[in-house]
Amino acid sequence: MPTPAEALHLILAAMPPLPPVSAPLADSLGLALAADVYSAATVPPFTNSAMDGYAVQAADLDAASAERPVRLRVLGDLAAGGVSYHVLHPGSALRIMTGAALPEGADAVVPVEDTTRGEDADGDWVELGRPIRRGIHIRLAGEDLQQGQLLVKAGQGLRPGDLGVLAAAGIPAVSVYPRARVAVLTTGDELVDVSEEPGPGRIRDANIHAVCAQVRACGAIPVPYARVPDDREALMHTLKLALEADVVLTTGGISVGDYDHMKAMLEELGARRAFWKVAQKPGGPLGFWRLGTKPIFGIPGNPVAAMLMVEEYVRPALRKRMGFAKLHRPVVEARLEDGWSGRVGDGRTTFLRVVAVKEGGGYCARLTGPQGSAILSSMLSANALAVIPAGVDQVAPGGPVLLRLTEEAEDH
Ligand code: AMP
Ligand code: MG
Repeated sequence: MPTPAEALHLILAAMPPLPPVSAPLADSLGLALAADVYSAATVPPFTNSAMDGYAVQAADLDAASAERPVRLRVLGDLAAGGVSYHVLHPGSALRIMTGAALPEGADAVVPVEDTTRGEDADGDWVELGRPIRRGIHIRLAGEDLQQGQLLVKAGQGLRPGDLGVLAAAGIPAVSVYPRARVAVLTTGDELVDVSEEPGPGRIRDANIHAVCAQVRACGAIPVPYARVPDDREALMHTLKLALEADVVLTTGGISVGDYDHMKAMLEELGARRAFWKVAQKPGGPLGFWRLGTKPIFGIPGNPVAAMLMVEEYVRPALRKRMGFAKLHRPVVEARLEDGWSGRVGDGRTTFLRVVAVKEGGGYCARLTGPQGSAILSSMLSANALAVIPAGVDQVAPGGPVLLRLTEEAEDH
């Protein structure tokens, strides 16, 4: 039976990234770049005003004061997007808006709030009541980005800010890894849809919603299939359909129950087993197969176990498939407030659902409640998993644990 680390290693080795595609910026939020991206342009492309105000020659204002303001002749008005044919000479100014190209001869911009404008027989003038530093309120051509500069590295997921920079840098489309299409099958004669009233002995299908949501949360596309009864033919039929996806996930029927047909059906289809069962709690009977190169995860049916398995194994696998350099959640040290005790000599890694809160320089974690693998409510407030390594059978109250922070905001 592999340890969690060994199981993950086997899975990741079978998860080459999907072939990259070219995507317009509008379709690439959250996708990982397949190649480094360099700026195609200099930004800003021309020197321009950082304020609404007056372009001037700073030397004209050296002697300006509130008592003796300097009066300059206004050559004209320039809006953003316009280009001025005026050349500033001593004693002149140009009314200029934020983003408009600085006219030749200007070396500073005075904010409009610091000016008084008037008119006389010779035209418009502006008065300025204090000296100004040369270069102030001016954005120099290329001060933001240089053409050819590295902007975003391959393997990084694109964020809204990255897309803005790429657009400014003249890159309309990028080479990215596509979203993986992930077939999700839930199995079990006892399952009914959430909208149905379960009859005697039946329960609502939680996994289809939880697992599809987890798949979507890691940027992939879940493809839910009709629930499969514990029937060999029905299972075989749906499995064959599901193989059109990039990755197949099934929940339930993977254990040693009399009606657990998943293993037998996958192997009848010709899938090769990498492992079945991992030394962890909850969720031991996870299986991983490959049919040709297609990865198939057989996930246990207990909803908590199912979600943990997706978190622990499927998520990094999908991220690798989708080309992300960073596969794993952030890991932090914490104090486990409640402490914990397990079975001595158990030999399995234990995952606990916890609420982690920042405390001083570190974290404090509190169990979300009973931790049984069928206690779905233990997921409700969890924002982290505490990992208790195999061989540790006790953590004293307030003792140290490692946490995986599972809140989405932490990744990109
Ligand atoms: P299995 O892995 O099929 O043996 O199922 C283990 C336990 O999980 C049983 O109590 C099932 O009823 C339950 N279970 C299986 N699949 C689901 C599901 N999709 N939603 C909720 N509970 C499930
Ligand atoms: Mg079952």
